[in-house]
Amino acid sequence: MNTKKKLLLPATMARAGWDVIARRDDVEAIAYEYSLPTPEFHASLRDVHGVALGLTPFGEAELQAAPNLQVVARHGVGYDSVDVAALTRRNVPLMVTGVANSPSVAEEALFFMLALAKRGAPMHTMVRDGRWAERLSELPVDLFGKTLLVIGFGRVGTRVARVCLALGMTVLVYDPYVKPDAIAAAGCTPVTGLDAALPRADFVTIHCPKTEETRGMFDAARLARMKRTAYLVNTARGGIIDEAALHAALSSGALAGAGLDVFDREPPPSDNPLLGLPNIILAPHMAGVTKESFDRMAVAVATNLLEMLDGKPNLDHVVNKEVLIHR
Ligand code: NAD
Repeated sequence: MNTKKKLLLPATMARAGWDVIARRDDVEAIAYEYSLPTPEFHASLRDVHGVALGLTPFGEAELQAAPNLQVVARHGVGYDSVDVAALTRRNVPLMVTGVANSPSVAEEALFFMLALAKRGAPMHTMVRDGRWAERLSELPVDLFGKTLLVIGFGRVGTRVARVCLALGMTVLVYDPYVKPDAIAAAGCTPVTGLDAALPRADFVTIHCPKTEETRGMFDAARLARMKRTAYLVNTARGGIIDEAALHAALSSGALAGAGLDVFDREPPPSDNPLLGLPNIILAPHMAGVTKESFDRMAVAVATNLLEMLDGKPNLDHVVNKEVLIHR
């Protein structure tokens, strides 16, 4: 009889994670394709004790399909695609990968800021297309001396703030769940009102989760409070910015530019008007994914699943810690 515990893992997960599980002879790893239709995904959950998720939604229906489930692990840190309350009702812990991808996301946010400020794409095409003489027509800008507003001062936001302080920026932080003293101790300026802070910022970068509170946080009214010369960067989640309002602001000149790694619908439909704007830089939800972080996340996911099955979880990685008292 097969008494091994079964773990269902995305086939795309890096080798490093599979290797962690292969070292255990009491656990069996099973791969599933990311694009598996829902009925097939449900069928593959039937016997498993743990599952790792990309951005696949997971809630009541999936729990019902997985009667033996003991742990759910996100391959990443955002969990807006998971019904945490449903997991908690079933005493199933949800785990995330901690700081495995935070440096990568912070670098991508910085890359967006620099690419926008330095006019990376227009400068490139200017040289390539023989338009050298146009180089003084629209000057790039510095980050040095400018004001950055960081929304969300967690694993990613703190890193972005640190780098931007080093570049000589003034860093404002809006995070209602972090004590102002902790923000000030990091060399930043805490702000309690988002609306009052927006007109002060030359760059705004979003690093909060997508929740009921942050959905549509950047609507037309909020965007209108930003400087016309300001840049907005979102490497957190689609839906935090109202895309139609962003398109209106960018195309009317009410906002200088934007960098987006995340979208309302992913992939964005080809008729999404944001895709055609000249003052935007886009990435396909890859901020947290680099060669190095892909390995780190795979190891963290595999370790999270095994440690929870062993009853020794890393508490920093458990989202709904309250379920652990019932174990
Ligand atoms: P984290 O949990 O460490 O930090 C999130 C911070 O946001 C916390 O400090 C929290 O207090 C704050 N926050 C919560 N609600 C807020 C609100 N209403 N206003 C302002 N701040 C608020 O998470 P993290 O690891 O820093 O990641 C941040 C987000 O980035 C994740 O939730 C995830 O959705 C997203 N993310 C995206 C990628 C990607 O590839 N694009 C990768 C990793 C994370």
